[in-house]
Amino acid sequence: MSGRLLTIDEYVKGILASDRVVLSRAITLVESNLESDQQVAAEVLKQCLPHSGKSVRIGLTGVPGVGKSTFIDSFGTLLTGVGHKVAVLAVDPSSAASKGSILGDKTRMERLSKDENAFIRPSPNQLTLGGVTRSSREVILLCEAAGFDRIIIETVGVGQSETVVAAMVDFFLLLMLPGAGDELQGIKKGIIEMADVIVINKADGEMQSKARLAAANYASAIRSLPSHEGKWIPPILTCSALEEKGMNEIVEVLNSFILNVKESGDFELKRKTQRKTWLMDTLQYLFLEWAKNTPVVASLFAEMETAARRWMAARRRH
Ligand code: GDP
Repeated sequence: MSGRLLTIDEYVKGILASDRVVLSRAITLVESNLESDQQVAAEVLKQCLPHSGKSVRIGLTGVPGVGKSTFIDSFGTLLTGVGHKVAVLAVDPSSAASKGSILGDKTRMERLSKDENAFIRPSPNQLTLGGVTRSSREVILLCEAAGFDRIIIETVGVGQSETVVAAMVDFFLLLMLPGAGDELQGIKKGIIEMADVIVINKADGEMQSKARLAAANYASAIRSLPSHEGKWIPPILTCSALEEKGMNEIVEVLNSFILNVKESGDFELKRKTQRKTWLMDTLQYLFLEWAKNTPVVASLFAEMETAARRWMAARRRH
């Protein structure tokens, strides 16, 4: 069927039948900037919506080299091993500048890429963060409609991308390296506040004791953060994604976290808030698109831009 345009019905049937080729093509459609593609995408999404929402959405962040892809390969394989269907998506606004995405690259996740219960999708590389955000949320829905019940969304944390990912997931995991000394140095404090669990990777070989020490230091540093008073304190775990050690414990923390928030009602509350934000973001996006494509408004914008430039230039002179 490659090359031939699919009908809306074929898209929907293919997605609901968990056909990964059709799912990929639907995602391409969602990521497209073409008006005609957007119209079909909107209809496909509408029909998939009643079949979505039934997954656990997991966000994952960490500096390049921390072991994100190794971790996802191992964690994802563990999940498919117990009967889950795992989708891996990436939010990587840096790919727009570098013209290519390093995240969500299949070659980085060897086992998972061959796993028939997994689906890996790199970040679209022609989009801005706003565009990636919009499409990622829609891609989550499509993957859920296709039966994926564990969705992992990876980000490197460029600019605001961590905040954006945290706002679309149920559980946010921060992956860190075993370091010595000033454990919280170099981490944006905001990320700690977003994390539901902090995992120190590469706890193997000579780095094992260093990782344990780092975990203890992080734990006491986090407890002393004033912002955490009365809030969920993220557990600090260690693991070796490479040697697959400590991975079961992370799955257990994830499962008990989700069970707890479902029982308390916080799970649905968070999703509800996220849907509201999503709606507002979509409206803003549509408004800006409309403004750009409506000559009267576009020329008004141009006038405002010129006025703002003049104003700034005048300020610089004083
Ligand atoms: P990413 O850039 O965050 O996706 O990191 P990668 O998964 O590509 O890993 C970067 C490097 O760290 C690779 O050479 C991995 O083999 C290595 N690595 C990843 N996880 C571990 C681990 O648990 N232990 C050790 N010793 N090395 C690891």
